[in-house]
Amino acid sequence: LEPSYQFMLRVVTPGGVSTPEQWLVMDELADKYGSGSLRITTRQAFQLHGVLKWNLKETIQDINHALLTTLAACGDVSRNVMCNPNPYQSEIHSEIYHWAQQLTTHLAPKTPAYHEIWLDGEKVVDSLEQEEAATKEVEPIYGPVYLPRKFKIGIAVPPSNDVDVYSQDLGYIAIVEKGKLVGFNVSVGGGMGMTHGDNQTYPQLARVIGFCTPDQILDIAEKTVTIQRDYGNRSVRKYARFKYTIDRHGLDWFVDELHDRLGWELEPAREFKFDHTGDRYGWIKGKDGKWNVNLYIQSGRIADTDTLKLKTALREIAKIHTGDFRMTANQNLVIANITGQKKAKINALLKEYGISEGSNLSALRRSALSCVALPTCGLAMAEAERYLPTLIDKLEPILEDAGLREEEINIRMTGCPNGCARPALGEIAFIGKSPGKYNMYMGAGFSGDRLSKLYRENIGEEEIIDTLKPIINRFATERGQGEHFGDFVVRTGYVKPVLSGTDFHS
Ligand code: SF4
Repeated sequence: LEPSYQFMLRVVTPGGVSTPEQWLVMDELADKYGSGSLRITTRQAFQLHGVLKWNLKETIQDINHALLTTLAACGDVSRNVMCNPNPYQSEIHSEIYHWAQQLTTHLAPKTPAYHEIWLDGEKVVDSLEQEEAATKEVEPIYGPVYLPRKFKIGIAVPPSNDVDVYSQDLGYIAIVEKGKLVGFNVSVGGGMGMTHGDNQTYPQLARVIGFCTPDQILDIAEKTVTIQRDYGNRSVRKYARFKYTIDRHGLDWFVDELHDRLGWELEPAREFKFDHTGDRYGWIKGKDGKWNVNLYIQSGRIADTDTLKLKTALREIAKIHTGDFRMTANQNLVIANITGQKKAKINALLKEYGISEGSNLSALRRSALSCVALPTCGLAMAEAERYLPTLIDKLEPILEDAGLREEEINIRMTGCPNGCARPALGEIAFIGKSPGKYNMYMGAGFSGDRLSKLYRENIGEEEIIDTLKPIINRFATERGQGEHFGDFVVRTGYVKPVLSGTDFHS
């Protein structure tokens, strides 16, 4: 008799996009085989929790029949490629989404093993290239031993840095000139994870190395991945991420190596400016005349509770929606490409079920990000998803009294230093140390361009509140015009600015 082993399944959705039909399949699978809820991850993917081992195969088969896959959602390969959901520049979204899909397909493992194990040998291939490689059983990019660690790619569209492009191993920053996508600045070597007590591990910001045209991004991604494949640390796993490979050899070395492998050189980086990393909520009309509505989803959890039937509401919307769903990097959801005809019906459903666009919530809550942590993540040392809303309940009155209810402050919490909710880019951040205890960090840049810094170690709720209250009050009275919280705590000396991960612990 075997114990009821449970698994988490993650589903690849480049740029977080799924069709209403795919949404309905995921909704049903969550009830049929999962814990009854869906989770939007901080990488714009679906997560299903609580799938019992003997239901794994049927669940994966149903996912594949919906033309989604779990292949490369985990593992030492390129993970779900992120991109800005971008309802503001609807004409640009289809282009960057195209490139997110292309990157996903190009970097997907070509092994037929996935199909043999989970799909009874039935091959679901979406390109001739994949089919040929699968037949020959070779991995043209990854080789026989794959990468030393996972590899993350994201595409940002300024002024939004919602994908936290500087946290990605490889980032593309869209350059839009006269309303047209002309190319991308390329950034390399970002990453959030570290290990408590090991100062040789640290979060790092990616650095911009040049500009490329859209048709060059696959070549750059492939060559970058092969450099990490060949030079990444395979002896000590915690030093294996690409950021350490670059920091060990130097950025100039990497750029030379990349140019060598490409056989051509990147152009100088072009100008761009990020303003923020958070989502913008509510109804937005795209340039194509279609409507988009960005909904606030607490911690990305799509569930029905006694007070809020969110999962049911989204199911009812999916039944009539003819556009798409876009999960955001901030764990929210854009119902996108809504026709004028369907707008009133979808709005009526949102109202019927009391689904918030976020306008009734404090800006702090709207700017919060947390990883799943306990009880489902085996690496968690402390709560995150289940606790951050409670902590925000206690911080909100302090902000309200200080007149800061509408002040966006990026607040992030993770249950361990792996950093899935990108805490090193939170203006206020908490990383779990043990149940109820967190290391507290402050001072990241509002637009995601500076790391946070350790301010207090191993503190619980009471100390968190006692520590933050006077800082928030001082921020309310002494801040400069438009000054963000992260900038304020750096300017006033609470923490030193951290512009490189190599200074994170100093
Ligand atoms: Fe990621 Fe750690 Fe949170 Fe688990 S506890 S989801 S590994 S950050």
